[in-house]
Amino acid sequence: MALTIIGTMAFDAIETPFAKTEKTIGGSGTYCAYAATNFMHSINQVSIVGGDFPQEVLQDLNRLGVNTEGVEIVKDKKSFFWSGKYHLDMNTRETLITDLNVLADFNPTLPDSYLETDYLLLGNLVPAIQRSVINQLSKRPKLIVLDTMNFWMETAMEDLEDVLKMVDVLVVNDSEARQLSGEFALVKAARKILAMGPKFLIVKKGEHGALLFNGEEIFCAPALPLEEVFDPTGAGDAFAGGFIGYLASTGDLSFENMKTAVIMGSVTASFCCEKMGTERLKSLTPEDIQKRAAKFVRLTNFQLSC
Ligand code: AMP
Repeated sequence: MALTIIGTMAFDAIETPFAKTEKTIGGSGTYCAYAATNFMHSINQVSIVGGDFPQEVLQDLNRLGVNTEGVEIVKDKKSFFWSGKYHLDMNTRETLITDLNVLADFNPTLPDSYLETDYLLLGNLVPAIQRSVINQLSKRPKLIVLDTMNFWMETAMEDLEDVLKMVDVLVVNDSEARQLSGEFALVKAARKILAMGPKFLIVKKGEHGALLFNGEEIFCAPALPLEEVFDPTGAGDAFAGGFIGYLASTGDLSFENMKTAVIMGSVTASFCCEKMGTERLKSLTPEDIQKRAAKFVRLTNFQLSC
């Protein structure tokens, strides 16, 4: 059972009310991969980096079971760069800079060893590239999860609509769900989005948790109330990586197991916020995951005596 992940591998500059960094390792694909390694170790990474991207990061991912044969290195160019700023309300952020750099000419050809993947996570990236990855696979994966963002809705909506028809699960945040559907009420937004193609929709609501929609079914997961959110960058990607990593490790795609996967995504995302960049995600142990998952059970369990 293999999981293929595509997404950016980047340098980020992040400013929060508590910390600031000019250059830290980030990228949707990097966060997704680190998150998924907590559940499985047979991961194929597809991305592109410049000659400035540290080899040690690729080696660290290799150590955790991530095959980076599909990560193209363009020696004389710069890696994707993103800069964002959070204000006191850490649920919303401002994008200051998006420098595509190597991403501008990215047209991945999947290595042969990637062509029979069972699980595919299309991390936040150019929708046309996400589509090209699906089209290159020799058989349809058991599950395709798509992550995207407002940037692509504004610049590549037609391609995005096309990809939506090809995937099983879409993961977006609440404002993106509203933008994509043109509906404010999330239940109405979900209905419209599910009609666009995906069978399952996950709407992330930052510190207010996440909703899973499938037909008329809704599951509501909390976010762990954290004492301190240090840096929420990558939490959405960590959620997606944890979600699909857990599903791939269990092989059970029932709605019931998807609920647990949403909790595992929330568990992984909660850790991501505790330190800057990928720092916390890459140091997690199975025990950390188990303990936190148990906290989620305690957080949501209650008895009805009437
Ligand atoms: P998240 O906080 O989950 O939305 O993910 C933040 C990460 O996504 C950062 O590390 C960025 O490098 C990366 N990112 C930001 N904008 C984009 C974009 N337009 N396409 C792909 N990745 C992006």
